[in-house]
Amino acid sequence: MSTTLPLLDPGRDAPGAGHPTTRPGILDVPPDVLRAWLAGRGQPPMRANQVRRQILANRATSFDAMSDLPKPLRADLAAAFAVFSTRVERHLHAPSDDTHKLVLRLADDRLIECVLIRDDGRATACVSTQVGCGMGCVFCASGLEGVVRNLTAGEIVEQLVRLRNLVGADPGRLTHIVVMGMGEPLANLDNLLDALAVAGDRTGLDIGQRHVTISTVGLPAKIRRLAEAGKQYHLAVSLHAPTDALRTRIVPTNTGTGVPAILDAADEFYARTGRQVTYEYVVLGGLNDDPTHATELARLLAGRKAHVNLIPWNEVDGLPYRRPADADLRHLIDTLRRAGVSVKVRKRKGAEIDAACGQLRRRAEAGLTTEDTEGTEGRQKAEENRV
Ligand code: SAH
Repeated sequence: MSTTLPLLDPGRDAPGAGHPTTRPGILDVPPDVLRAWLAGRGQPPMRANQVRRQILANRATSFDAMSDLPKPLRADLAAAFAVFSTRVERHLHAPSDDTHKLVLRLADDRLIECVLIRDDGRATACVSTQVGCGMGCVFCASGLEGVVRNLTAGEIVEQLVRLRNLVGADPGRLTHIVVMGMGEPLANLDNLLDALAVAGDRTGLDIGQRHVTISTVGLPAKIRRLAEAGKQYHLAVSLHAPTDALRTRIVPTNTGTGVPAILDAADEFYARTGRQVTYEYVVLGGLNDDPTHATELARLLAGRKAHVNLIPWNEVDGLPYRRPADADLRHLIDTLRRAGVSVKVRKRKGAEIDAACGQLRRRAEAGLTTEDTEGTEGRQKAEENRV
């Protein structure tokens, strides 16, 4: 399929147009600060909620469009704040499956990515939590240059709002969130929880907790903290190997943690929340997909209330790995099923727009266009978020 894609949002949000604003994004202004600012202009505190509702529920993208606010106030707001602190650097759409991908430029000029995935009447947002990633998984594009910083709660919410604004009449709203973009979500847990609380607000995006999946490299203390938060979020743990020796080669942070401690924390998460844990397993041809690995993985997870998501590796420019052979993937599936472990292979989506998180951002930074990178494929991760 051709990768000569329409670049949407030309004009105001066109690449190279520079960053729009140094004004603070209103979604990151604490409510009490906004109320004090409003009070200084003789405005009642409820105006703060009106502004948020306009952005989160009514799809307002400018203060001027907030028709329930007095005109002079709209102008004052526009002079002091920005509705969005990010700018759309690129907007790609894959007509084959209606996947949208946004590369957003942050106020400090960094780039992040987020994706809207359409499937079975669902509209799933895949969002980033950090600029880059500090976990260093050897096969992943996002961690190649390390982590730069955590995203703010407002920057996470902005990804959701911008993607929701692309959802048409059916279903008209975002239905699911997968926190599987760039970064390690549990390394930015406070901001993530703040953002997800906003996402769950009935008067705003109204996304139920059970429709949210958080994917982690496996940080046991943070998994416990997430369990203690008393939410119904779904947890996905990136296991990628059944033994410490192999996992440490693939996931460097494993040195300080180890598979047993991760499984213990995940078991506790299940005991505390009643939510079944998903184990993600990126299948790297010739590295973690031989029959011994299949048997070890089945033994490790049998008897646990676990679900496995097999993710055939998606090529990343310059990395020396390969996708698994069909027979090896089949053997993994069969071995797990025979052991009573539920398993799915993650579907690919948005292949022609290179949906593998981190790759588009890297290319944008290197000044390459999608046309230069014809033939690359993307990965997709809405699939396991079945509830
Ligand atoms: N830091 C979190 C979120 C990462 S993205 C985590 O480690 O889970 C979500 C999933 O995509 C992870 O399982 C990650 O290992 C996987 N992934 C990253 N790069 C990939 C690639 N090139 N091909 C297939 N899966 C990949």
